[in-house]
Amino acid sequence: MNTLLLKVDKDNIDAEKIRTAAEVIRRGGLVAFPTETVYGLGANALDETATKGIFIAKGRPSDNPLIVHVADKESVRMLVEGMPETAEKLMDRFWPGPLTLVMKKSRIIPNIITAGLDTVAVRMPSHPIALALIKEAGLPVAAPSANTSGRPSPTTAKHVMDDLWDKVDMILDGGPATVGVESTVLDITGDVPMILRPGGITPSQIKSVLGTVLYDPALNARNAENSVPKSPGMKYRHYSPKAQMFIIDGELAGVVAKIREMTDEYGKRGLSVGILATEQTRDMYDSGEIISLGDRDKPETLASNLFTALREFDRRHVDIILAEAVKNEEIGLAVMNRMSKAAGGNIIKV
Ligand code: AMP
Ligand code: MG
Repeated sequence: MNTLLLKVDKDNIDAEKIRTAAEVIRRGGLVAFPTETVYGLGANALDETATKGIFIAKGRPSDNPLIVHVADKESVRMLVEGMPETAEKLMDRFWPGPLTLVMKKSRIIPNIITAGLDTVAVRMPSHPIALALIKEAGLPVAAPSANTSGRPSPTTAKHVMDDLWDKVDMILDGGPATVGVESTVLDITGDVPMILRPGGITPSQIKSVLGTVLYDPALNARNAENSVPKSPGMKYRHYSPKAQMFIIDGELAGVVAKIREMTDEYGKRGLSVGILATEQTRDMYDSGEIISLGDRDKPETLASNLFTALREFDRRHVDIILAEAVKNEEIGLAVMNRMSKAAGGNIIKV
């Protein structure tokens, strides 16, 4: 398949390019496009054959359901069976934005989208190109992250090209995604709303609207083996760089000392080490490939840079990645969740 790359300026959107992309979606093709979280790989959510193409292009396991994207709140009604009051409140407060709501699905949703579940995940992104594309297509658009399954999610068009060139019809390059981690997935089918995947909207933001929110026990690494995650995507090793990754967690000075010691040890064995540091610590290392994830005092920068950093370590062909843990709260929850998946659960406490 020939992939067409189109550059689109998000501040001055070329309507002709959006029409071309929307036409590809309407005739059953695949279009990668920027959202505020990560790049998505979109297809007509009501077309079973088209959505099958997403699973093939990504090599995505068929038991991992897709999020359906809409351009306005009204479009949700036809996708779900009854709309809970909590949905209205959350949509008013957080849409458009990085919050995905899991609700009872309606009959028009093909089973392939929900991997056979009786619920559907829906989100309205805030990125102007994503909104323009979905609106112009006039359809709900199923869109998982536009990466090869298992690889770090794409936050630039270049990342999408590295993974999906010749596997999709079109890539819209609208510059880097700003949030940098995926949406928060929130199940509102039960009595108490439950976070199935931490992401761009934080637990305290949700609490400020609903008063309470629970955290799927399967998200806690310690429980992971004994419980079945309700968000099927979370059970896979995910977001993985090619190198073996370890997260070092504890008091910061101890973390730095441990990473320095491990870097020396791996070095002696002839292995090259990538260090995922922060602005606060980057100057404390004197060997290894050092990348700063961002500023610990501005945790949104850590989210924004994470996937680019993991892909950069791949590009530099390091054998081992040693990553400093960050604060496991608010947006940091999403960062630590992605990092521990990327590390296959390898966390060293100091
Ligand atoms: P991705 O779009 O690649 O970031 O992945 C979508 C995430 O949403 C995965 O973790 C899915 O398991 C999750 N998801 C999608 N649909 C549902 C659903 N109906 N119920 C629970 N989780 C879902
Ligand atoms: Mg994904």
